[in-house]
Amino acid sequence: MCSTTEILHSIPVDPLTGSISVPVYQTSTFVQEAPGVNKGFDYARSNNPTRKVLEDLMAKLENGHSGFAFATGLAAIDSVIKLLSAGDEIVAVDDIYGGAYRLFTHVYEKLGIKIHYVDTTDAENILEYINDKTRLVWIESPTNPTLKVSDIRKIANITKCFNALLVVDNTFASPVLQKPLELGADIVIHSGTKYLAGHSDLVAGLVVTKTEELSERIKFIQNASGGILGPWDCFLTIRGIETLGLRVEKQSATALKVAQYLSHRPEVDQLYYPGLPSHKNHKVAKKQQNGVYGGIISFSLIDDTQDAAVSFVTNTKYFKLAESLGGVKSLLCHPAQMTHASVPREKRLSSGVQDSLIRLSCGIEDAEHLIADLENAFRALKKSKPVVAV
Ligand SMILES: *Cc1c(COP(=O)(O)O)cnc(C)c1O
Repeated sequence: MCSTTEILHSIPVDPLTGSISVPVYQTSTFVQEAPGVNKGFDYARSNNPTRKVLEDLMAKLENGHSGFAFATGLAAIDSVIKLLSAGDEIVAVDDIYGGAYRLFTHVYEKLGIKIHYVDTTDAENILEYINDKTRLVWIESPTNPTLKVSDIRKIANITKCFNALLVVDNTFASPVLQKPLELGADIVIHSGTKYLAGHSDLVAGLVVTKTEELSERIKFIQNASGGILGPWDCFLTIRGIETLGLRVEKQSATALKVAQYLSHRPEVDQLYYPGLPSHKNHKVAKKQQNGVYGGIISFSLIDDTQDAAVSFVTNTKYFKLAESLGGVKSLLCHPAQMTHASVPREKRLSSGVQDSLIRLSCGIEDAEHLIADLENAFRALKKSKPVVAV
């Protein structure tokens, strides 16, 4: 969907010097010839040439009007919610990123915004909650950690009928696999921390808007609230994006092999990977993601206990135990005790996050090494299990 040629040649050569790498403009202000007479930049919160390259690049890759770079993914999400006023409503995917849930529920609900959480894998469910006060429909596809896939085109048709905006958190797919604006969405957001930057070395957030009108409103909020990404992290994110296509292709191919391996393990109970025909939303994923399914896999164990999960996640060598995902080095985590620890157990279980659920983020190591690593963790699991005497 995004070729590496397109990505690389969407990054301009520095017009001033010919530098093939994007210069880092580490400055707070820009000297003016006369008040208001400048070269397009006046103060680094409002604009910065390094940031502009990243913002223009993201607009191009997501096929939008404008891009905006923020300090973190959550700062990007925050800027979009600031389009709303007290009394407005949001319909959001129930399996939403935990940090977005915290922001919506503990910050914005207090300010008078009402949020309804629904299972958007069936687009019709949205009809139960959408009304004339609904300003945003907020989805992620695939979701974290159970990789539910929602039909973006179908949902966009519904939001249009109600004059609401469709926002897609495209963090898990990246523009290499999926371009929500082309499927009818109005705004795309990213945690640039994950696949875009891709090296687990920074936090960043991006917003891409479809229309000029939305661009102006987000630009205003970005400058008014000030949660921008600094020039050095913009540079690193641009450098990361140069290899986005290569990384995501490799990570997806590896994840498919790992998922196929896991599907044959007797210790595995539920297995979530949209690339497997057994996945509930495989058909939609296939259509929407161009037949490539990303680097994230989740699975639970037959021995559905936290102890079993802890044994597993502490017995891998290449899969490092850490929050976050999408980097070149493979990571794994235990959502019940890590990313989803703040979600009450009942709610967690009902959204499929079992006690033993383990999330893998496949890096760019070779698939056979990663599979051997998992094989060792399964072996350790057997050893840690007490033998019951007959
Ligand atoms: C990590 C993540 C975020 C938040 O991004 P930060 O950069 O950590 O603030 C938002 N959405 C999804 C899907 C994520 O995985």
